Amino acid sequence: MTPRILLVNPPIYDFAAYDFWLKPYGLLSIAGYLRGKADFALFDYLDRLHPFVAGHKELQSDQWGRGRFYCEQIQSPRCLEEIPRHFRRFGLPRDIFRAFLSKGEPFDFAFIQTMMTYWYQGVEEVIRDVRAICPKAKIVLGGNYVSLCRTHAKTLDADLLVRGTNLEPLWDYLSLTPDLEQPALWEAYDKLDVGVLKLTDGCPFKCTYCSVPKVYTKFSARPPHRSLAELKLVRRLGAGNIAFYDDALLYKAEEVLMPFLNEVIKQDIHVNLHSPNALNARFITKDLAPLTVQAGFKTFYLGFESTSSKWQKRTGSKVFSDELTRAVKHLTPAGAAPTNITAYQILGHPFSNIQQLEESMHFVNSLGIRGMLADFSPIPGTPDGDQCKRWVDMTNPLMHNKTAFPIILLGFEKTNHLKDLQRRLNRTLPH
Ligand code: SF4
Repeated sequence: MTPRILLVNPPIYDFAAYDFWLKPYGLLSIAGYLRGKADFALFDYLDRLHPFVAGHKELQSDQWGRGRFYCEQIQSPRCLEEIPRHFRRFGLPRDIFRAFLSKGEPFDFAFIQTMMTYWYQGVEEVIRDVRAICPKAKIVLGGNYVSLCRTHAKTLDADLLVRGTNLEPLWDYLSLTPDLEQPALWEAYDKLDVGVLKLTDGCPFKCTYCSVPKVYTKFSARPPHRSLAELKLVRRLGAGNIAFYDDALLYKAEEVLMPFLNEVIKQDIHVNLHSPNALNARFITKDLAPLTVQAGFKTFYLGFESTSSKWQKRTGSKVFSDELTRAVKHLTPAGAAPTNITAYQILGHPFSNIQQLEESMHFVNSLGIRGMLADFSPIPGTPDGDQCKRWVDMTNPLMHNKTAFPIILLGFEKTNHLKDLQRRLNRTLPH
């Protein structure tokens, strides 16, 4: 008998959350491998095209498909009570999910996506509802939280935890054989305006603050024909904005990204491309920059973090200041709008100081591009996350919260001062 599988992207419990092209790509990819072998139903708490959201004008998307989530203010968890920010639950109201579960045939399995370790409360909420309304469904959890906080994840009453990138235990559990040529199950959405693609997995760098080297053992490229088929699928389903979720999209660009973009141009696929996972400025060359613009890249997010070469060397030598300058010099003449080029800088990293960060912010501003502070989240099992035991209890995933950690490390006033400075610097740029 064909199994019925429920796919759930849970609500987010956090101080802040924004739909920055956020899709449950891992969940949809796994469902895609099982296309035709199971009956699927998707409930995405973060779907801003859900009919419930249509009535809320303030939640409408911007020109590139980003926007605010529906949210409700709730009590902060006790361990975060000292953080002077409002705690919220982001996503569709719980009753909608309960009604969804109550109608129709029962499910055999429920796959629940996890992302940030400190978002596990949303997963817990979903598990409670599935257990209450579909008690026979076997609950499967996969994703970053399960991979990085296995011991904690075991406390959540799931039937199977799929850790890391090895999916064999899942196929065995389901007694199904996947078809790894299949694209993600994007048709599970009734309406789609944003899609996600990944041309590669992993990253050749080993930045000491990053989870990617822990989750992926090596860098590898995905089959290009499969990525192209997936792009065509999401376009056909209505998505005009595509976000790359690659961690090292520009690595070996001559072999991976450039041939892909050439195909996009050759096959006349019109789409807006975005890179919310930082691009490495080192690999933006004179040849690559115009190709990205021609193929449809509209926004460029570059991982910069700090001007301090000492900090850069200590954390993995991902990129240096002169490489950022050079990247901007290639991108702007190629047609990238400077206000659509953004450099991330890390706020609240334990080896960084405020003076360094202010210098970095001014440096980015001097290039005529936008800066964005990326709040540091200590990730368990990474060298820098392990250092953070000095400030927070790393066994409690809520203490990995990226709004909370910079405030714990630097204090509320200094954190606010830096955020204000970033806003003021960005306002000096032409619109
Ligand atoms: S380059 Fe980026 S993805 Fe790779 S390890 Fe460093 S921070 Fe992580």
